[in-house]
Amino acid sequence: MSTFVPSQRVAGMHESPSMAAAQHVRELRASGRQILDLTAGEPDFDTPANVAAAAINAINAGATRYTPVNGTPELRAAIAKRANLRTGLSYDDAHITVGSGAKQVIFNALMATVDAGDEVIVPAPYWVSYPTMIQIHGGTPVVVECTESDGFVLTAERLTAAITASTKWVIINSPSNPTGAVYSEEQLASLAAVFEQHPHINILWDEIYDEITFNGPAPNIAAVAPQLRDRILVVNGVSKTYAMTGWRLGYGLGNPELIRAINAIQSQSTSCASSISQAAAVEALNGEQKFVAAALNRYRDRKDTAYRMISDIEGLMPIKPAGAFYLFINCGAILGSRTPSGRTLSTDVDVTDYILEKYSVATIPGSAFGASPYFRITCATSDETLETAILAIREAVTNLEPPAASRVAEQNDFIQTS
Ligand code: PMP
Ligand code: GLU
Repeated sequence: MSTFVPSQRVAGMHESPSMAAAQHVRELRASGRQILDLTAGEPDFDTPANVAAAAINAINAGATRYTPVNGTPELRAAIAKRANLRTGLSYDDAHITVGSGAKQVIFNALMATVDAGDEVIVPAPYWVSYPTMIQIHGGTPVVVECTESDGFVLTAERLTAAITASTKWVIINSPSNPTGAVYSEEQLASLAAVFEQHPHINILWDEIYDEITFNGPAPNIAAVAPQLRDRILVVNGVSKTYAMTGWRLGYGLGNPELIRAINAIQSQSTSCASSISQAAAVEALNGEQKFVAAALNRYRDRKDTAYRMISDIEGLMPIKPAGAFYLFINCGAILGSRTPSGRTLSTDVDVTDYILEKYSVATIPGSAFGASPYFRITCATSDETLETAILAIREAVTNLEPPAASRVAEQNDFIQTS
């Protein structure tokens, strides 16, 4: 008999759907199946050579010991410089924490602040980990639906309606995973006006995709509303911008009291981020930036190709992303259809299961991001994988009964007559 009894804190917890989907692909491949993987979002490029060289130099120079809990002085200086360029604000050591990925910084920030009964507003579609992280710390995620017609951004009205005396944080992710929505300066100013009326609320601003934008730079909320800077935790990292997901290096900039608490948690848990990854991150942030522009061009081309190819599939409607490297796809028009083996597709999970089981393309259902009926593909994979996978998705949708075309026509009739 097992002696494992989970704590109440983790009893109902499920693992990250994006990490689980990626693991499922590994297992299917290990069992001999060939899978086209469009699940977890991580750049398919190698880490830039200058960054890798900085890590090797760090090892050879003996930078292999614990660092200060809040990161090496060189890395904090590089982060402060970059944050200053982005926000116009000056940040010093007291405002900065360095952790093992942006994910850990978010986790520790919630641990430092959330008690049972506290509410955290999470606009949906959301990154898969926010609600569960809030629940682990005893808090209540208050999911606020953001609609396709609002461009999947949180409006001041919806924000206002969700605020209570128990609201501790609002989490805003721009550019967004999974929709690619980027908040404009005007949209941020209107949210900031609401925050000014509610001084008990903090803003967790996750801008991990800030360098991956297709229509000019993504505005930063601390730059738009510097008067709120003490209530804003800016979270970022090197994973996406510099193809460094496996290095596990992220950071946060915010109120010194919050940063002190995050550092105290870190000192009791991981002690510090990897010394070698920190040395690499210094080079990533301070060194040659050619890689960033080159990667962006590749993401843009892939996004354009994927958008065009998916738009051509009757029954699927991709959302045009302004940033990040995903495509979020509305699959409402194929719900109710039957697969060749007679199974009815009732939910987006049915859709992604069908595409995986019969066509060997792994994607993530919108329900994992709190929005149905959609599914997400990543464009941060090779052109060949992306295009082959989309052709397979096309075949999967074409083989449904009744054909999507007639379902779309039926829906249009319904919209026109109702
Ligand atoms: N925020 C968002 C929106 C993400 O998509 C990710 C991706 N993993 C993270 C945070 C965490 O990134 P990391 O821990 O690799 O820095
Ligand atoms: N953020 C990426 C994704 O959403 C990587 C996996 C994860 O950390 O969730 O796919």
